[in-house]
Amino acid sequence: MPKLNENYLNVQDSYLFAEIARRVRAYEESHPEKAGNIIRLGIGDVTRPLTKSALDALHRAVDEQAAADTFKGYGPEQGYGFVREAAAAYYGRNGVDVDADDIFISDGAKSDTGNITELFAKDNVILVPDPVYPVYVDTNTMDGKHVVYMNGTEENNFLPMPDERVKADIIYLCSPNNPTGACYDREQLKIWVDYALKQEAVILFDAAYEAFVSEPDLPRSIYEIEGAKKCAVEFCSLSKTAGFTGTRFSYAVVPKELVFAASGGQKLSLHDMWNRRQSTKFNGTPYIIQYAAAQVFTEQGMSECMDNISYYMENARVIAETLRRKGIPFTGGVNSPYIWFKCPGGMESWELFDYLLEKIQVVGTPGAGFGVNGKYHFRLTSFGTHEKTREAMERFDRLF
Ligand SMILES: *Cc1c(COP(=O)(O)O)cnc(C)c1O
Repeated sequence: MPKLNENYLNVQDSYLFAEIARRVRAYEESHPEKAGNIIRLGIGDVTRPLTKSALDALHRAVDEQAAADTFKGYGPEQGYGFVREAAAAYYGRNGVDVDADDIFISDGAKSDTGNITELFAKDNVILVPDPVYPVYVDTNTMDGKHVVYMNGTEENNFLPMPDERVKADIIYLCSPNNPTGACYDREQLKIWVDYALKQEAVILFDAAYEAFVSEPDLPRSIYEIEGAKKCAVEFCSLSKTAGFTGTRFSYAVVPKELVFAASGGQKLSLHDMWNRRQSTKFNGTPYIIQYAAAQVFTEQGMSECMDNISYYMENARVIAETLRRKGIPFTGGVNSPYIWFKCPGGMESWELFDYLLEKIQVVGTPGAGFGVNGKYHFRLTSFGTHEKTREAMERFDRLF
């Protein structure tokens, strides 16, 4: 009989979206006349189709696979040079100098943020914000590692800052944040980078929503901060940027400067370790996807993505405006597709979920699903259509 990885006993059931679906189904069954009226503003998935640049490229790449002289088999495990260069050029246009050689192409920021835990021993002090994307906690738990939570609260605008008294080894940051939509400014990220350098800690920076940053002074990459290449890995993805949630393309930047001492005193490079890990366990993202991603990274490709992002951000504006008019405190909606608001009337998040479903047939995501600090908060997303979002917020306006 196999001895199992019993750390899985410690992972909480990922019940959030299943529970939402269950409650919506139950409501539909008991109120069939209202079923068609339900508006879903809980989804964390994009809805706009792929851009023209991406689609044209996909078609071209498929045709290449049809002829022996252009056919591609296995590619480099790190990704094709042409797309690593294209991603580096995209960083460059945003004023950030990243070496194409430090960019590792992958099939998802979820896989990468999960897999990176393999590079670290069990007995690290791992700081994770609460509330946050559940993947960081769950992947560490599956690996038998314990995390220490940093509280995101209304007081700190859901942007926890370092506590100098805490000795940390690994720090997860997600900015712009899922679920709160909050975004660190340069000064705050500088404090994090300085703290990490002083502690010789590594920051695992999730920048999946960088393309949604609209305020020019806010950092879109941790490498905008001096010293970050000595302490930070950055994870990025075309999922939200280019609507690639079903197409699958991400990239991790692991700078060669990230060198730490092993217990025996030898120097170990995270870049080399990640390269070894990926070369051993990963055979690359499909060529056709990498080819399309390279077109997405061009100026034309990104400008088409920005059209879709602007579409979503109009929804965010409508949601934010309604909340502001109602005097309901919220974060997000300006540099992020997410809006995170305080449940009115002292309600708990699941209570508000049921209330909105019952009264106005609007489905959102209870904050409790992202951590204990989400108990009295609620997430709405701007990934719906203009028509549905406007309708949902008109109903919300009448309700409160
Ligand atoms: C959506 C999302 C990602 C992207 O994951 P992919 O696996 O690239 O689709 C990464 N981090 C956060 C916080 C996200 O919300």
